[in-house]
Amino acid sequence: MKNEEKSIDRTNRQLIAVRDVQDALSSGATSIATAANCVVTPSARDLMQQHGIELVMNGSGNLQSNASGAPAAPVASASAGQSTATFRAPNTRLFSTPEAEAIKKEICAVGRKLWLRQFVDGNGGNISYRIGPNEVLCTPTLVSKYDLTPGDISLTDINGVQVAGSKARTSELLLHLEIYKAVPEAKAVVHCHPPHATAYAITGRVPPNLVIPEFEVFVGKVAISPYETPGTKAFAETVLPYVRQHNTVLLSNHGIVCWADTVTHAEWYAEVLETYCWTLMLAQQLGAPISHISEKHGDDLLAIKKTLGLPDIRFDTSRMKECQLSDLEVPSSIALQPTPCDGPPGSPSGADLESLVKSVTDAVMEAIGGK
Ligand SMILES: [Zn+2]
Repeated sequence: MKNEEKSIDRTNRQLIAVRDVQDALSSGATSIATAANCVVTPSARDLMQQHGIELVMNGSGNLQSNASGAPAAPVASASAGQSTATFRAPNTRLFSTPEAEAIKKEICAVGRKLWLRQFVDGNGGNISYRIGPNEVLCTPTLVSKYDLTPGDISLTDINGVQVAGSKARTSELLLHLEIYKAVPEAKAVVHCHPPHATAYAITGRVPPNLVIPEFEVFVGKVAISPYETPGTKAFAETVLPYVRQHNTVLLSNHGIVCWADTVTHAEWYAEVLETYCWTLMLAQQLGAPISHISEKHGDDLLAIKKTLGLPDIRFDTSRMKECQLSDLEVPSSIALQPTPCDGPPGSPSGADLESLVKSVTDAVMEAIGGK
């Protein structure tokens, strides 16, 4: 600790909230003593970081570790450190390698895209990249994604303890970390609140499938996770039943989260889902039934998807019975009842479909080539 200063005693409490931090501030304390298993709310954590208040767990000494000596001291909440997985100590040198510098720029570019497309507002949304087994680059709390600069990005370990960077990491990082721990292929996570996709999320519905080829290939079936308070471990864990077989999840009453091999690709999936939801809503306003791609042609799209290594619950034949191409993850969540798949009026002709499939294949191949 920098000074021999006052600490307020909260060792009899299970939860540290904003009020406790305010008590510490008003009494001139620079640390809060807590019980070993206490949980810190995200807003309390943010306030502690803003004012440099430290958290000292009973018997465990100063919880704040700052291996890089960076000015923003992290606060490790109990909720961030309960993983059973073991990882070696984080390698802080990964924070400033040429690869890290390039990824920080990519994160900023993606942040600006999210803001320009109105997928985030205020300081909403967050982006991360798993640069090592126990090292994650992530965006800071309380910064608009439009204003991000590479110097804003911090480095944390896989449990969320910040080890480098001058700004406090996002309080939503736990969501990203649960995905990284559950899906080894996930290297990047983007969380945002695009309005049309979020409209589905607040009605508890998922969009139907077999309407637009690009959506089938890049996203496919979307799951919807139950609501929990953002920033908590309980919230982060809501996506666990879905993330291995879905690269995009609607978060009930909140927004969406996407994972991919790169930050750029994770943002693409957000764009694809948002545009798809928007298009479905526009089509609904026309009043005519929405036509669907046949399941046979859907199989062609799934075959393309398989070659890309993208996840889709429909690849899991053991679950195909409960989850057919055109049905949904949650039976009560049908947003637009799909019309019969074998030749509804207005279905694209075989030739149209061929050209659609070709255009998707071309786009995909170009994306792979440009990676
Ligand atoms: Zn959010």
